[in-house]
Amino acid sequence: MNDATRVIRAGLPKPSQAEPFLPGPVFAAPFHLSGDPARVPYSYGRLHNPTWAAYEAAITELEKSAATVVFSSGMAAIAATLGVVLKAGDTALLPSDGYYTGRSLASDVFGRFGVTTRTAPTASGIHSESLRGVKLVWLESPGNPSLDVCDIAACARVAHDAGALVAVDNTTPTCLGQQPLALGADFSVSSDTKMTTGHGDLILGHVSVRDEGLAETLRTWRKQMGAIAGPMETWLAHRSLATLHVRMERQCRNALAIAQFLGSRSDVHDVRYPGLPGDPSHAIASRQMKYFGPVLRFALPSRAHAERFLSNCELVYDATSFGSLHTMAERRARWGGDVIEEGCIRLSAGCEDAQDLIADLERALDR
Ligand SMILES: *Cc1c(COP(=O)(O)O)cnc(C)c1O
Repeated sequence: MNDATRVIRAGLPKPSQAEPFLPGPVFAAPFHLSGDPARVPYSYGRLHNPTWAAYEAAITELEKSAATVVFSSGMAAIAATLGVVLKAGDTALLPSDGYYTGRSLASDVFGRFGVTTRTAPTASGIHSESLRGVKLVWLESPGNPSLDVCDIAACARVAHDAGALVAVDNTTPTCLGQQPLALGADFSVSSDTKMTTGHGDLILGHVSVRDEGLAETLRTWRKQMGAIAGPMETWLAHRSLATLHVRMERQCRNALAIAQFLGSRSDVHDVRYPGLPGDPSHAIASRQMKYFGPVLRFALPSRAHAERFLSNCELVYDATSFGSLHTMAERRARWGGDVIEEGCIRLSAGCEDAQDLIADLERALDR
């Protein structure tokens, strides 16, 4: 079966007379339960839920994994992955240009519990010298907001040789665009808030693994920490997943068209999109990604230029986040935490008409 078919059918129950294609969300705290809890599939809503089970089955199939555990947010999924691997005295290696809150969680919270974190830029890859004493290697490719790409298979080989586990934040490319587990990673972690669900209306995350034992430790973490997904969000996510292929094709096409347009402007510099043939990441990205994702970045001469440009856009929303079917852009440096130019703008291409989007960008740049 091809991806376009698989995303539409993933996780749906076998056809059954007079039943819906995708059963609705199940809202329950306690379930009826007599006798031994181990003999029933559902007992209490913090431990399991049939709506999670259907979504997890869908993602498990798309990630080509053994199991998936859904969480209340991408950050809850990151916290769980760090939490089941690391203990006091361990060291984790993270990308210096990766998602800022993930880095600060590792250094601030896990740091207080005796975990050491080191960082290295995504573009430099992983080398055995930098892995001494490292228990977990965290990768994010493409990096956010750097949009640099690393060779995941090569990094995983070096990390495994050094005895470390490997987690990849796969939020930007999604399970359709890139499959970290097939490239050798132990964990594929995602904020499903972004491209995977793509409507900008929910917060959710997941972790997929090749090893059922790791999945069980993640479920135990979820039960103990209580970082559980709401049934409504999970159901909306499953419903939205069905259009992932259609959205991905359109959004990647729009992202490439916008990157090419921006590259033709003399007032814009440093355009980065892994799908651009001239991009420094293009060669590796072409080998390991099926889709280059909706996100690109570029720079205007100053903070004032960037702010003026964003306020001049009419169609393109000035908003944080990415992957939604609405095109949005923001001046990334307004958040702090990343080493990035003041005039740098991260843009996420949506599903609108490419000519309309380019006309809006052109008008805003010219003004
Ligand atoms: C947004 C994001 C996260 C965090 O996800 P939430 O769902 O907002 O908790 C993690 N990693 C990346 C790359 C992200 O973009």
